[in-house]
Amino acid sequence: MSLKDRRLAELRARVPEVGPAEALALQQAGALLIDVREDEETATGSPVAAVRLPRGFLELRIEEKAPDASRTLVLMCAGGARSLFAAEDLTRLGYGDVRSLAGGFSAWKAAGLPVETPPQLDAAQRERYRRHLTMPEVGEAGQHRLLRSRVALIGAGGLGSPIALYLAAAGVGRLTLIDDDKVERSNLQRQILHAESRLGQRKVDSGRAALLDLNPTIEVVAHDTRLEAGNVLDLLGGHDVVVDGSDNLPTRYLVNDACVTLGVPNVYGAIFRFEGQVSVFGGATPGARPCYRCLFPEPPPAEYAPSCAEAGVLGVLPGVIGTIMAAETIKLLLGLGEPLAGRLLLYDGLRGEFNEIAVPVDPECPSCGPGASVALTDLAAVCGV
Ligand SMILES: [Zn+2]
Repeated sequence: MSLKDRRLAELRARVPEVGPAEALALQQAGALLIDVREDEETATGSPVAAVRLPRGFLELRIEEKAPDASRTLVLMCAGGARSLFAAEDLTRLGYGDVRSLAGGFSAWKAAGLPVETPPQLDAAQRERYRRHLTMPEVGEAGQHRLLRSRVALIGAGGLGSPIALYLAAAGVGRLTLIDDDKVERSNLQRQILHAESRLGQRKVDSGRAALLDLNPTIEVVAHDTRLEAGNVLDLLGGHDVVVDGSDNLPTRYLVNDACVTLGVPNVYGAIFRFEGQVSVFGGATPGARPCYRCLFPEPPPAEYAPSCAEAGVLGVLPGVIGTIMAAETIKLLLGLGEPLAGRLLLYDGLRGEFNEIAVPVDPECPSCGPGASVALTDLAAVCGV
């Protein structure tokens, strides 16, 4: 008996093995079926709804997939040997009920059980996203998630420029640009999505051209229109995240209220001269995160609002704030880290300093509170930040 065979015999004595039908029944009863084969192997097929976690990443990433150590895990490889080794390692990590699929994927397939082919990145995509693929926090599954994501971006201006460029570069599959302005030379000091060669074009068209030049594999939907109470739900609905790169208060209130209605997270940013602020509002669970109106319940009366006339801004400032907004968007799409929610991040460019203030959920909030009754309305134009 070879060393390997002896070792496998020892493992079989300790690790409970199940057949394909039993594995499927366990999965349907709530167990996690984990395919520990390499990406090249799962590429041609893997059990439906299995978690694909190659052996090399198993111990590193199992806690994300199975935070509850008492959940039943059924491990599967090609023929049933690697999964025995893997099962022993997970038992050692503290998982209480780890089983191995005898005969592995071959047995699963031979039994005619449901198989799916995970979506594949082509060679060009592998090359393009290589620096994402080598990060375990993103990896192939995360990249697919980005490619399937839909983000609506309001404003193709100062904030919208870095947001759109980084989201397109990251491979966010569908970007919807909403803006009703045209490119002017005075934009180019900060709106790096546009260019001298596209002066006079609609911003959404100029933006779309720049984004598809950067990443021709994504879809960019251009809406050359102003957001209004009458179109906001149609325009923003069907997106995973809304990013508000607008520069005026009526739009911010409208976007906030629409996002609360739709249950979609709203990544907010604002800039003024040398200062900026960023936060993440709302989301699928009502009241779980504050919204913009929890922070600023009502717009200021027009007579107190700052003048609409050309508030200055340091050209790089929207780059700082918009890039943080893009990072928060990608975190939300991938479910990574701690979103910048319940906190308002303040940037003081002159001091080179970031500060943070807590933004609690307001139980009396006119938009997201339990008794909220705010209707989508077009506010009179008030300016300011
Ligand atoms: Zn609120």
